[in-house]
Amino acid sequence: MKKTLTITSYEKMLERLYSSIEVNPEKFKGFEAPIAEVQNVKNRTIITNFREIAQKLNRSPEELASFFFKDLSINGMIDENTKQLILFGKFSFERVNMTLKFYIKKYVICPICSSVDTIVVKEGKNLFLRCLACGATSSIID
Ligand SMILES: [Zn+2]
Repeated sequence: MKKTLTITSYEKMLERLYSSIEVNPEKFKGFEAPIAEVQNVKNRTIITNFREIAQKLNRSPEELASFFFKDLSINGMIDENTKQLILFGKFSFERVNMTLKFYIKKYVICPICSSVDTIVVKEGKNLFLRCLACGATSSIID
């Protein structure tokens, strides 16, 4: 392995270092939890990388959006063109990422084996997290 460090990789390293100071990106079995990029515009909060987050978590944007609305007790919408999430309220970067982290722990990570290879299934009124890696089914308590 070469020991020289290019500027780009050094910058990337710094970037990672800073983002880990800010919110501690959590890792689950090699999966790095996504971090929401947040923009405050007047009294609204925009998650600019919302589409990527939903894709990375393998959840529908609508499902993820409704969790944000519920957790933050506000309304909002997904911008049709940009697919960004617009929250009708002012929230800090930390607050938004706290909600995202909460969602990932509750609706994505298998509590048995920590895999992210999971799906949410609805049976009657109850929600379950089914793990495709270990086969466990865990109930999600709302
Ligand atoms: Zn599992």
